[in-house]
Amino acid sequence: MSVQHDPVQRADFDQFMVPNYSPAAFIPVRGEGSRVWDQEGRERIDFAGGIAVNVLGHAHPALVKALTEQANKLWHISNVFTNEPTLRLAKKLIDATFAERVFFCNSGAEANEAAFKLARRVAHDRFGPEKYEIIAATNSFHGRTLFTVSVGGQPKYSDGFGPKIQGITHIPYNDLEALKAAISDKTCAVVLEPVQGEGGVLPADLAYLQGARELCDKHNALLVFDEVQSGMGRCGVLFAYQHYGVVPDVLSSAKSLGGGFPIAAMLTTTELAKHLTVGTHGTTYGGNPLACAVGEAVIDIVNTPEVLEGVKAKHERFKRKLEQIGEQYGVFTGTRGMGLLIGAVLSDEWKGKAKVILDAAAAEGLMVLQAGPDVVRFAPSLVVEDADIDEGLARLEKAIAGLIQKA
Ligand SMILES: *Cc1c(COP(=O)(O)O)cnc(C)c1O
Repeated sequence: MSVQHDPVQRADFDQFMVPNYSPAAFIPVRGEGSRVWDQEGRERIDFAGGIAVNVLGHAHPALVKALTEQANKLWHISNVFTNEPTLRLAKKLIDATFAERVFFCNSGAEANEAAFKLARRVAHDRFGPEKYEIIAATNSFHGRTLFTVSVGGQPKYSDGFGPKIQGITHIPYNDLEALKAAISDKTCAVVLEPVQGEGGVLPADLAYLQGARELCDKHNALLVFDEVQSGMGRCGVLFAYQHYGVVPDVLSSAKSLGGGFPIAAMLTTTELAKHLTVGTHGTTYGGNPLACAVGEAVIDIVNTPEVLEGVKAKHERFKRKLEQIGEQYGVFTGTRGMGLLIGAVLSDEWKGKAKVILDAAAAEGLMVLQAGPDVVRFAPSLVVEDADIDEGLARLEKAIAGLIQKA
């Protein structure tokens, strides 16, 4: 039995919606695996993955099953009670990581908000009110609440909203000397993305993360890794910190954690978690049973050698073809990133034209992302079929060849 809806179209967006987004001209209505269909029935290959969210593609049978089974049992109960999916997912995250304690919430920004508040509370409790400074990287992205845009290193997102959160210093990414110069005994946390996502798909150097860890220990500051984009299998390991072997004190996860259902988590140790005593922090939907039931199904599938090894093999498949396109058409200078978080860096001639390539790709039946104006970003399903990779990249090549012909 399907409900009859009034017809809607893209033009309605401009009439009814707050204009903070500029969505594509077509409206997707259905997805399956790595393919999406729009209102006109036109099919597209999806390498955007809902911005690194649809970790198992669209309508994965195991996720549909987890969601619908839970939907028939219990949707929401609040944190006045706990629930079974929350406890099971927390245990799975703890078993698979450094963490001993989990706080669930609903978005990456909220997970980071919790991480930053925890860092300040720990410093306050242990060392007093003077230790509150947070050091973060320029070009970093940590979400859109006022605290998280203030910590984020992109002033275009934080300017013009009145006074920012105070006590935040930004330093260039991958520059250990700059971190060494900025950190002091007033620092309560150093916040880093192990791979900068929005900032251009830029992985950290191993020595940088190791150095950051040492400096944090020396100054009694917490090392916070924002793995909202890099985590949950995206980089070919469950979390990117495991690739580097540098263990943070606090880690935020979201995006892929729910495979498309909104959920996020802050992971930490028992010693640190105890500073968030009853009543110090919370959120109505955190640990929602529907969200956690889906998260459980995601981690069960993603945290397997089969899927994680597959991510590494698929990375190579993307890289080979992208580098061939880059050389043949002079459009990319190369690729960077890890696993299935890949950036193709535009050559000087194409600088600033990531959006032009996105639009041309969409017209050829391919959804991709940008990471700033100079990087075309790929964040497909971790189980994208090799045949879909080949066909999607053939569409990209056709789009680029078309742009060159028109120029
Ligand atoms: C997307 C993202 C966020 C924000 O997540 P939301 O769910 O949009 O609040 C934070 N940090 C990183 C690294 C991200 O990529």
